[in-house]
Amino acid sequence: MRHVLAAMILHEANSFAAPAPLAHFERQGVVRGTEIGPRFGPTRTEMGGFLAYAAQAGWRLTTPIAVPCSPAGPMDANAFAAIRDALVEGTRAAGKVDGVLLGLHGACVAVGEDDADGALAQAVRDIVGPDVPIVVTLDPHSNVSDRLAAAANAITAYRTHPHVDHFETASRAAGILRRAMDGEIKPRVHLARSWQMRGFDSTRTTPPDGPARRGQALARAMEAADPGVIEVSLQSGFVLADVWHVGPSVAVTGNGADPRFAALGARLVRFCWDERNNDTVKMHTVAEALAAARAVPAGPGPVVVSDFGDAPGGGGYGDATAVLRAMLENPVPGAVFASIADPVAAEAARAAGVGADVALSLGGHVAPAHGGGPVEAVFRVLALSDGRFTHEGPYTPGQMGQFGPSALLERHGIQVIVTTWQRNILDLQQLRIFGIDPTAPPLIAIKCMDAFRAAFAPIARAAIACESGGVSSRVHTSLTWTKVRRPVWPLDPDAVVEAAAGGV
Ligand SMILES: [Zn+2]
Repeated sequence: MRHVLAAMILHEANSFAAPAPLAHFERQGVVRGTEIGPRFGPTRTEMGGFLAYAAQAGWRLTTPIAVPCSPAGPMDANAFAAIRDALVEGTRAAGKVDGVLLGLHGACVAVGEDDADGALAQAVRDIVGPDVPIVVTLDPHSNVSDRLAAAANAITAYRTHPHVDHFETASRAAGILRRAMDGEIKPRVHLARSWQMRGFDSTRTTPPDGPARRGQALARAMEAADPGVIEVSLQSGFVLADVWHVGPSVAVTGNGADPRFAALGARLVRFCWDERNNDTVKMHTVAEALAAARAVPAGPGPVVVSDFGDAPGGGGYGDATAVLRAMLENPVPGAVFASIADPVAAEAARAAGVGADVALSLGGHVAPAHGGGPVEAVFRVLALSDGRFTHEGPYTPGQMGQFGPSALLERHGIQVIVTTWQRNILDLQQLRIFGIDPTAPPLIAIKCMDAFRAAFAPIARAAIACESGGVSSRVHTSLTWTKVRRPVWPLDPDAVVEAAAGGV
């Protein structure tokens, strides 16, 4: 019986946000050992996929740690040490293994460790030795380091954005591992990094003819044309990371080492460069977005206005008020705002109770310069919730999440969800737990970049993106990178980058 080690640590770190302590990760779950099977077996996460494949293949699976995480600032030093040590100790305790499956995000930065994913993979490699195959799954919003590529035998990232294929990606990784353990293949990763900080249209697969779908089609064609090409994985990078290796990359996993694998990566990197200005999401100011939302013809379903600038999925604090303030100044009756993370306001609303009016200084406390300061106003408490929800999908169905103690408030006919902790809004259950039917409001404003589209696009009349100026801002000139390799696009002029890259 094959003995396989499987672990999952999925942190995406925004370097411009405050470091996240261990408590941040424990809220979402730092799950160890035998607790992992029951917790993740019913989910469509990577760990759910590893468990299902192992059961069907008859593997003995050792699972030291699973940390689903919620994007935030860098892991603080204690959090990283605790999570890394659990992985290392669990790997040592596992004894001899035939293979390793590592579910990583690929954009984890820790305080004192810019390449946390590479450090985790290398730590496992150091224990299992050079001959045990390690297959790594990634989120395509990953900044793949040379160390990570060298420590892994194979890399495969999700192929959809919004990401609805965590489970399928895990199954693909397990299939590669099976072939490697059976001696059918000797996989090696050939990494090509672009001269860009972002690319492949952020791997958005919602536009039918966007750069991501065309890039993925090229990757599939490369795999089909050459049986030695095991996997061609596209990563668009996660730009809000101030690290040397930030940006898009292509990981070609080939059977052995051959220059043709690197050449395929170079071709896709060139494609990424040529498409660098092709961004399929049009960005608006807050005022433009709300005006555009009002102009959408009436009809069934909400207009969804999404705030890129304060998206918890990009490390935003989730407490920026610019969009809420604009909505309160010119209200659309029946509109919903989801959500503001403000533990003091959530507690005050809960203490006041359903039906009470409560004066709040709501949101805007963490970084008032980014996305607006507190809204000082009286709100009516409509409902309370413990803030727990289970994803109905399509994004990781079955996965549990929580806002912490929360309340639904109302002012000027606008319903406002106030939570203890920030969460990306990407699942309809996140509204339903407050008694909101997501199909009913004329307007729903949310904090999220793109991930909401999987659940909300089928019910939305229109989706309009805006930029509030929070720390997950796409206006990258408002931020200062100090560690990124140079020259790089878009910080340096195209011609300078092209010259340095040898005439791309
Ligand atoms: Zn992602």
